[in-house]
Amino acid sequence: MIKIIFATTNDGKAKEVAHLIQLPYIELTSLNSIKEVYIPKVEETGQTFLDNALIKARAYFDTFKQAVIADDSGLIVPALNNEPGVHSARYAGENATYLENNSLLIKNITSIPDKQRQAFFKSVIVYKDQFQEKVFEGICNGRIIEKPVGTNGFGYDPLFYIDELQKTFAQLNTEEKNKISHRGKAINELKKFLKKLNN
Ligand code: IMP
Repeated sequence: MIKIIFATTNDGKAKEVAHLIQLPYIELTSLNSIKEVYIPKVEETGQTFLDNALIKARAYFDTFKQAVIADDSGLIVPALNNEPGVHSARYAGENATYLENNSLLIKNITSIPDKQRQAFFKSVIVYKDQFQEKVFEGICNGRIIEKPVGTNGFGYDPLFYIDELQKTFAQLNTEEKNKISHRGKAINELKKFLKKLNN
């Protein structure tokens, strides 16, 4: 059995990733289920998703001396100077709600011509153990719409429209979203790597 710590305190995310990875020889533990050790809070101070994923992977590897997976992700709108980017969770302020972040995005996108409203989600996952540090990435392209559509998912999903599907992320169920999403793609790459670890 290969034991890996998933550096997140978000139970929803931990469950989703565990479900996507599902390999019989991998045991994933999230930070919330570790009770016996003091868990330091790690600030995500990086300028890129990769910086933040590396900061977390290295810090928790140092703490636990055990293999770690850490991730960071967000939405990039080139016409808005690549914002919200690493600020995706706190676009409208430190403890902003999804609704507040989405309202700010709508406000900012209204001054941008329709044709320049392309956006993409990016997910970066870092795996670290005592021998190696590996990076896996996934991207999903779409565009920002002005009125939220759909009720599934979270975050910017209702504003992220995919022309090929004629749907927003929030109109897809979890399985449909995982097939095409930035996170789904990054995890797929990670999974290919984890399969090789067992050989
Ligand atoms: P995290 O740090 O990877 O959990 O994500 C940071 C922020 O990016 C989230 O709070 C969301 O605002 C945004 N985000 C990341 N992935 C998605 C997604 O799949 N849908 C909508 N928003 C997302």
